[in-house]
Amino acid sequence: MAQNEEYKGYSEIALQKLKEFNALVWSDVEITTDKGLYKGKILPRSETADKLHVVIKLSSGYNIGLAAEFISNIKVLGRKEAHYKIPEKEFPYDPKRPNVKLLGTGGTIASRLDYRTGAVIPAFSPGELYGSVPELADICNLETEKLYGVFSENMGPEQWAGTAKAIGKEIEKGVHGIVIGHGTDTMHHTAAALSFMVQNSPVPIVMVGSQRSSDRPSSDAALNLMHSVKTAAESDIAEVLVCMFGPTSDEYGLLHRGTRVRKMHSSYRSTFRTIGDIPVAMVSRKKITPLRKDYMKRRYDKDVIINTAFEEKVSIVYYYPNMKPDIIDSLIDNDYRGIVIAGTGLGHVNKPLYPALKRAKEKNIAVYMTVQTLWGYVQMYVYDTGRDMMELGVVPTANMLPEVAYVKLGWALGQTDNLDEVKKIMLTPIAGEITEREPSNGYLILQGGVPEVEEFISRYRK
Ligand code: ASP
Repeated sequence: MAQNEEYKGYSEIALQKLKEFNALVWSDVEITTDKGLYKGKILPRSETADKLHVVIKLSSGYNIGLAAEFISNIKVLGRKEAHYKIPEKEFPYDPKRPNVKLLGTGGTIASRLDYRTGAVIPAFSPGELYGSVPELADICNLETEKLYGVFSENMGPEQWAGTAKAIGKEIEKGVHGIVIGHGTDTMHHTAAALSFMVQNSPVPIVMVGSQRSSDRPSSDAALNLMHSVKTAAESDIAEVLVCMFGPTSDEYGLLHRGTRVRKMHSSYRSTFRTIGDIPVAMVSRKKITPLRKDYMKRRYDKDVIINTAFEEKVSIVYYYPNMKPDIIDSLIDNDYRGIVIAGTGLGHVNKPLYPALKRAKEKNIAVYMTVQTLWGYVQMYVYDTGRDMMELGVVPTANMLPEVAYVKLGWALGQTDNLDEVKKIMLTPIAGEITEREPSNGYLILQGGVPEVEEFISRYRK
């Protein structure tokens, strides 16, 4: 009988079942349960997971857990130990190709499954990318550098500044484009931070991630990487962009402006949407198609401006009915210097908050209003309540997205203590964070009338 070591992580009833049928981890099996027959490969069990289930990987790539108590038979068909290490290969160099630098910060795109714990762990190494997506070598010469290895909830001002400085160094060295591998969850915060911290870039700065890890058949990692690397190498769009799936299928990616983009779905691969505007361009493996003309063009100088000063004592408050003033008061008492409110409708909060807002003004705290609706503008002149709040010092931020306003306020307060100056910075668009109007096809799914949507609409026009 095999040692427990070959039943990696299983214990109690699940272990007993596997032993009963001599089914070691990594065996290809057919398992009969009260619900039917399941065919797959037995995976190691996380040490912290329950003791009641046997986990198999189905041929579809998905993992399922089968309750051990209902397993009546396990037929072992064979066994091959799986190694999930991605092969490392040296990236080929061709002097005719553009040079792209990929800076890794972590997230699913730089991850593989850790079968000991069942968790997705960050594992970014330069040659791994080429090992898993060899097509990249047809596009450019790629160099990689791991700046961080974190899931994106752990990115913050320190990492934003570190990434901005690393971008500055690469531009100084003369790269043709930069790709930033990043977790998707807070990619739009980092995109906004880089849009303010890195100004006047001569080359594209393309953020990319993946919603599904590369061990899953539906992973978007490889295609997103190809699209982003192509954009960095070949496009003439010298802006901070987010490059992710456009439609739910893998037809093309969209390039979103760093200050107008937001993660809008927790699991769709097409989660990133441009809000209140249309994306900058579409990208496929063959070509890049601009959807608008007003973008910063590629240049051949190195005149980038890196400015990473950031005030961390800034908060974002999502208003909800019956919010009590103590929320604002506690920020005042904890020496916060800036507050962004995501208000209801055109930018409202309830009356009980007014005295706290007045106190914030007296304490020289910068308070800015954005809208929870995400689409549309703050309009504080429409109702008396809006006008009252402006008198209390609350400044409307037009159609700046709440997260972008939060990042911009931290950056603006990092530049100066003078609140008039801060206001000037906040209300002067730097990288498209405030626009004069929202195009009618920039609302919700329309995304600039890209083909998927056109096709959808045409079905109803006939
Ligand atoms: N939690 C992950 C992150 O944001 C998700 C992802 O990479 O898509 O880092």
